[in-house]
Amino acid sequence: MLRQFVECESPSDDPAAVNRFVDLVADTVAGYAKVKRLPGGRFGRMLLCEFSLPGRRKSGQILALGHSDTVWPMGTLRSMPFRQAEGRLWGPGVLDMKAGIAFFLTAVEGLRELDVPVASKVVLQLNPDEEVGSEASRELTEKNAKVSKAVLVLEPGTGLIGKLKTARKGVGDFTVTVKGRASHAGVDFQAGASAVLELSRQIDRIAGFTQLEKGITVNPGVIHGGTRSNVVAAEAQAEIDIRVLKLRDAPALERRFRGLKPIDKRCTIEVTGGLNRPPMERSAGIVKLFRLAQGLGRETGVELEESLTGGGSDGNFTAALGIPTLDGLGAVGEGAHAINESILIDRMADRTALLAKLLVAIG
Ligand SMILES: [Zn+2]
Repeated sequence: MLRQFVECESPSDDPAAVNRFVDLVADTVAGYAKVKRLPGGRFGRMLLCEFSLPGRRKSGQILALGHSDTVWPMGTLRSMPFRQAEGRLWGPGVLDMKAGIAFFLTAVEGLRELDVPVASKVVLQLNPDEEVGSEASRELTEKNAKVSKAVLVLEPGTGLIGKLKTARKGVGDFTVTVKGRASHAGVDFQAGASAVLELSRQIDRIAGFTQLEKGITVNPGVIHGGTRSNVVAAEAQAEIDIRVLKLRDAPALERRFRGLKPIDKRCTIEVTGGLNRPPMERSAGIVKLFRLAQGLGRETGVELEESLTGGGSDGNFTAALGIPTLDGLGAVGEGAHAINESILIDRMADRTALLAKLLVAIG
């Protein structure tokens, strides 16, 4: 199943390819799930699978959350084929997050084969745009989370021991555009107001917004501006990534960006952007879910640990609604978004078992 999944490439920006993968998953679960495909705007379709699981009475819903897209362009398989070597499975998207999906479906199949009753309705949602910000799928994620008692996120665990994720930073971005006044750098230097110079001064200020002790980071990751070295630059722009640990820190940070004032009064500054994923804060409900998983892990001989990550997932949205969310339940491996993307074969069974046990134990 995993080989089929990896060999069906599905980059976020190729809706036809994502739809092929969505169809593959839909075919895989056809015998044991009701499937709905919903339009994903300029992305591929969103997939909802409601499983038929043993057990008469169902009360409440568990939402398993994943994404069908990967960061890898079509044709990556030629240089990075699916393969088994060194105790691992390798390939584009194998860790992030096709293995998580395959584990979850295998867990469901196991519960059916062994006729283990599950007290909740179980729904899997796969989003087509997670790797590019989830703008199309966010609404559906939030709608389904609101009617769920727990959300299980099939993203990979942290590190080669596969720590679960009980907190994620919130993510945002800002674009700062400086407009100055162009002039000839030789003939008319003083008539110019350099947007490049102004932006470089502002970047120094912006970098100062970082507060490591509070978990706030501000990264001016991209700058561009100017046209030629002998022209005083009329325009310059910076793209800045922000991360916050606590939602309550976001408004003050936004105010600092909006409050940027030009040092050279002849320049203007325009700021756009903001927080697009709220932080997943480690709530009591999340801790309770983690402790439950930890106990279940011990039954398979695995001591599960928890972690905080600066990276966002769709679990940020569900946790921000106050729904107990446990993330990082997918594969154990390394190299997400990198050429060494791979998963550990000897951790496939315990992860799959953990998912099955959680569906039963959440009750
Ligand atoms: Zn992912």
